[in-house]
Amino acid sequence: MDFSLSDEQQAYVDSARAFAQAEMAPHAARWDAESIFPVDVLRLAGEMGFMGMYTPESAGGLGMSRLDASLIVEELARGCTTTAAFLTIHNMATSMIGKYANPEIIEQWCPELVMGAKLASYCLTEPSAGSDAASLRSSAVRDGDHYVVNGAKVFISGAGSTDVLVAMLRTGDAGAKGVSAFLIPADAEGISYGKKEEK
Ligand SMILES: Cc1cc2nc3c(=O)[nH]c(=O)nc-3n(C[C@H](O)[C@H](O)[C@H](O)COP(=O)(O)OP(=O)(O)OC[C@H]3O[C@@H](n4cnc5c(N)ncnc54)[C@H](O)[C@@H]3O)c2cc1C
Repeated sequence: MDFSLSDEQQAYVDSARAFAQAEMAPHAARWDAESIFPVDVLRLAGEMGFMGMYTPESAGGLGMSRLDASLIVEELARGCTTTAAFLTIHNMATSMIGKYANPEIIEQWCPELVMGAKLASYCLTEPSAGSDAASLRSSAVRDGDHYVVNGAKVFISGAGSTDVLVAMLRTGDAGAKGVSAFLIPADAEGISYGKKEEK
């Protein structure tokens, strides 16, 4: 079996490596020590196409395979592991919006998300539901033309600095099938953010 990279994959790797060495590695230790979330560098990553890697092309992303995206992330993580970790989460949340949201929502959010001009958090983990995600308790209950959301999440990367939250909430019975994904603007009324975790 041939495991060598194609010319296109090698080009992705080269550009990600150059970006990581120039924009991330020189600052990584300080960002960690001083709890800096480098929004400006994430915007530059967006200009490189790294913020919408496997978001569908129909939503403005690059429509890459997960393997190709992994090759890029591997290089970015050599520059700054924590920033690369957030970048993967932003990519995951943005691809979910690009794949599953209705057209108006895609049009509203995806152009800026894939450019890194806006940032997304993925909100699954709860204080009593980490590995056992299907036992999450935060809920969304329909009330006329809107939902009332109650609950708490933990370990949400970027929370407090991001613009939109893709939140897993219980809308049905116990277990995985009772969970739905919601897109919530990060500044929606009633949301509060707790302490920052140490990096
Ligand atoms: C840096 C960082 C960033 C994160 N970012 C996000 C984010 O953006 N969004 C988000 O939703 N979450 C995020 N998380 C949370 C992450 O997904 C959870 O930490 C993870 O799911 C584990 O949950 P937990 O920490 O509650 O550990 P627990 O589920 O309490 O597990 C603790 C230990 O028990 C083991 N264990 C658990 N269940 C079993 C079992 N049934 N059998 C055997 N062993 C078991 C686990 O392997 C682990 O070693 C982040 C976490 C970190 C550390």
